[in-house]
Amino acid sequence: MTPEASNYPEYECCRLCPRQCGVNRNAGKRGHCGASATLRIAAFLPHFGEEPSLVGTRGSGTVFFGGCSCGCFFCQNHQISQEDVGKFYTQEEFTDALRALVNQGVQNLNFVTPGHYWPNIRQACLQLRSEGITLPFLWNSSGYEDASLIPAVARVMDVFLPDFKFSDPELAERCMGDARYPELALNAIAEMVDRHGFLRPWDTSGEITASTGTLVRHLVLPGQFQNSIRALDLLYEHFGPLLPISLMSQFMPMPACRERHFLDSKTEESLYQQVCQHAIELGFQRIYAQEGLGDDRFAPDFTKPEPFGTANRGK
Ligand code: SF4
Ligand code: SF4
Repeated sequence: MTPEASNYPEYECCRLCPRQCGVNRNAGKRGHCGASATLRIAAFLPHFGEEPSLVGTRGSGTVFFGGCSCGCFFCQNHQISQEDVGKFYTQEEFTDALRALVNQGVQNLNFVTPGHYWPNIRQACLQLRSEGITLPFLWNSSGYEDASLIPAVARVMDVFLPDFKFSDPELAERCMGDARYPELALNAIAEMVDRHGFLRPWDTSGEITASTGTLVRHLVLPGQFQNSIRALDLLYEHFGPLLPISLMSQFMPMPACRERHFLDSKTEESLYQQVCQHAIELGFQRIYAQEGLGDDRFAPDFTKPEPFGTANRGK
């Protein structure tokens, strides 16, 4: 049975993200993100697959929400972002599950593609803070956000982890149906940096985890060299050499890529290395890079109790 939804005013005529659907989620309608007002969540887990600054020794307490307003056709989490995998939660059950994660000793709470459930997340976080829980809250987003939402989010969240996926409007249009992505994401990231600055403390060993700031992620897509080069150029122009960036090589082609005959391979090793080299030559000083290319670790199965397999158990 689907639990009762929480009736937040923001869901009445939902305009929480740039899709501006205007649907009444409180009445059970679903917008482009696929979410009604009822929370759908696929997993709560200590995650060891994030950057060392977030994982530390005890893992990042990660929450994988159902639905996503970005809707990339190549999504590696397509089971949850587009195919309705996940369980429904009441607000109380959600807060209880977060509390349980905290009690497992995680380093932080990490909300993945959170924007469409912002009112629920805000309430839960405020509740946890009122109980004296002080660990950092992470906003782990697609970058496809309305910058005007960010100041309110920054009053609750400590760390921003936005993607900057597309610098090329045509590629954005082709992958997620909105050519405005580059401009919207840059505006949102600017607001994040303005509110919380750069990720800090900056310790890539993982001994000291980050407590605040912004880290921008960019997934290098197969055959899309110019998209990545331009993305780095734009980030450098806007935020300078001290912006922490994470360059990811983990792309795995999903069935939709084969059907479209587009992005239907892993990211080329040489392309990825050239992108990393470009970041160094530009002068970025804080760079996370990945070793190796995409493999099964990066194609989680959210129908299983351990979506990332036993490799996610940490040290
Ligand atoms: S959060 Fe969902 S329903 Fe609301 S505007 Fe965005 S895509 Fe539409
Ligand atoms: S933003 Fe991320 S989670 Fe959302 S559809 Fe794109 S790849 Fe999937």
